[in-house]
Amino acid sequence: MTPINTIYSEMGIRETVLSFGNTIEKDLKKRFEKIDKIAEYNQLKVVKAMQDNRVSAGCFNYASGYGYDDQGRDTLEKVYASIFHTESALVRPQITCGTHALALALAANLRPGDELLAPAGKPYDTLEEVIGIRPSNGSLAEYGITYSQVDLLEDGTFDYENIEKAINEKTKMVAIQRSKGYQTRPSFSVEQIGELIAFVKRLKPDLICMVDNCYGEFVETIEPSDVGADMTVGSLIKNPGGGLAPIGGYIAGREDLIDACGYRLTSPGLGREVGASLGIMKDFYQGLFLAPTVAAAALKGAIFAANIYEKLGFPVIPNSTESRHDIIQAVEFGIPEGVIEFCKGIQAAAPVDSYVTPEPWPMPGYDSDVIMAAGAFVQGSSIELSADGPIKPPYAVYFQGGLTWPHAKLGILMSLEYLVRAGIVTL
Ligand SMILES: *Cc1c(COP(=O)(O)O)cnc(C)c1O
Repeated sequence: MTPINTIYSEMGIRETVLSFGNTIEKDLKKRFEKIDKIAEYNQLKVVKAMQDNRVSAGCFNYASGYGYDDQGRDTLEKVYASIFHTESALVRPQITCGTHALALALAANLRPGDELLAPAGKPYDTLEEVIGIRPSNGSLAEYGITYSQVDLLEDGTFDYENIEKAINEKTKMVAIQRSKGYQTRPSFSVEQIGELIAFVKRLKPDLICMVDNCYGEFVETIEPSDVGADMTVGSLIKNPGGGLAPIGGYIAGREDLIDACGYRLTSPGLGREVGASLGIMKDFYQGLFLAPTVAAAALKGAIFAANIYEKLGFPVIPNSTESRHDIIQAVEFGIPEGVIEFCKGIQAAAPVDSYVTPEPWPMPGYDSDVIMAAGAFVQGSSIELSADGPIKPPYAVYFQGGLTWPHAKLGILMSLEYLVRAGIVTL
């Protein structure tokens, strides 16, 4: 048998990089054990939900046409509702991505004259056009739905005083984002989200609380729906798809709200009764089954990267010891070459397209060139090992995913190898 060090060396990882990585990994043993415990808990939660809802081989059958009585689809939605402890759930390949799921939850449950409040700062970039913060064709603003926002305080906590002032007779829904996305604020724990929901509901009990749960699923043992969220929303090409779902989004929550989402997704009158699953159900079920350990792998990768690059003197967000509420890791290199070499390393470690070299490129919606590394089975999937960074100060790279821990480890070691080769890091 070829010794493991030899295989690493054959793949281009030098001895000093490997031993540096192994030393860091040793110190993370306790934290990795905690992550494995959370994965164990969530694995049981998922299997139990599948058993309780009598998932059978028939659920994987191909359904076409209108999709009336699509057993696989209807059962999967019950499984999601069990996992999230909600009355109902909408889980569909016709929901194309996370932004679509969020847009659906908003548009289905807001009417002209209503106001949407973001009590914890600006939502994810793509929602700016959905809401109409940036004028856009078909935005909520065009339908006379207004928007107000209360930013976080300097220390990253909720500005309760101004949230109270912002809630008025028009306020119908509150939108809270669990993950920091690509902002510099900390991500919120589910417990913190629960405190915020309890606060706004004390002021106005009939407020609908929606949580953008993207990148957060299965990182903790509870989800926003366990602490009062009326709708919990996410993408299947992130955590809950487990790397296998090739498309899709979900909304789990109160029955009346989910029904409204169904009418908005298909048509008034038809709602959730239609929408054939087109043979995609096995990947949805199996991906969900794998999702707890996949999220754990990605989390270990993020913590490993934070510890490696912090030790080397680069600012990392979250830092090496902080508790985690999503799977995103940022590393600030301070120079463009740092971002570029990091991404080249991630690409070189991919199972798919490992031979291509990523380069900075102008992208729609960005005000600087952007470099992206992704060698994924599902195009654009960010639960698979991936990295990207805008080429502008502070020259930070955002890194996430990894379907298995050994692959996440290889990717991060390869990023370090490329930085060493370029002379940006000396070990
Ligand atoms: C990824 C993400 C979205 C949007 O999801 P897409 O699938 O890319 O449309 C929304 N919110 C957060 C926090 C995200 O991470």
